[in-house]
Amino acid sequence: MQPMRAYIGIGSNLDDPVAQVRRAFQSLNALPTCASVACSPLYRTAPVGGPPGQPDYINAVAALDTALTPDDLLQALQALETAQGRVRTVRWGMRTLDLDLLLYGQITRNDSWLTLPHPRLHHRAFVLQPLHDIAPNLSIPGRGALAELLAACPPQVIARLEPTATDPVNQAYLAIAISGWNL
Ligand code: AMP
Repeated sequence: MQPMRAYIGIGSNLDDPVAQVRRAFQSLNALPTCASVACSPLYRTAPVGGPPGQPDYINAVAALDTALTPDDLLQALQALETAQGRVRTVRWGMRTLDLDLLLYGQITRNDSWLTLPHPRLHHRAFVLQPLHDIAPNLSIPGRGALAELLAACPPQVIARLEPTATDPVNQAYLAIAISGWNL
């Protein structure tokens, strides 16, 4: 099968989320027939939905070239979530690792197991911003230009983690696309 470009949304807000996301980057690259093409910067983001009081998330996006089918890729993503200790209890509740198949080429699909593009991709700044960082010219099937979706999406509290020479995952966040968030 001809390799396809897929984009994976990554999120964590439990058990050292930065380390969880970095481990996910490595695990994605190690999947059979998959090669990582790009990893976005990491973002700290305020939780959207889910139970009140949960910790902030770390979010990022990875681009993969893969010969796995969309179904096999989704199954592999779920196995990685489980391997990193994800327990499915509360919907949109805290999790060590959430992997979403955002896009698989330009394929569209909507069934009980898999929806492509990911159904909530187009109104989540914490997905659109890191996706835009690594693929600014992307067009989202059925939704339009990524840059326009990002410009139009509801304001959300997201902040890029700025690596430093001494501490690559320091706590100094650069606020972007912020509406009234005090860092
Ligand atoms: P979540 O709780 O966000 O990890 O959702 C996982 C569920 O969403 C699984 O039952 C998947 O089959 C389903 N799903 C549908 N479309 C997608 C997608 N594009 N990426 C990830 N999970 C999806």
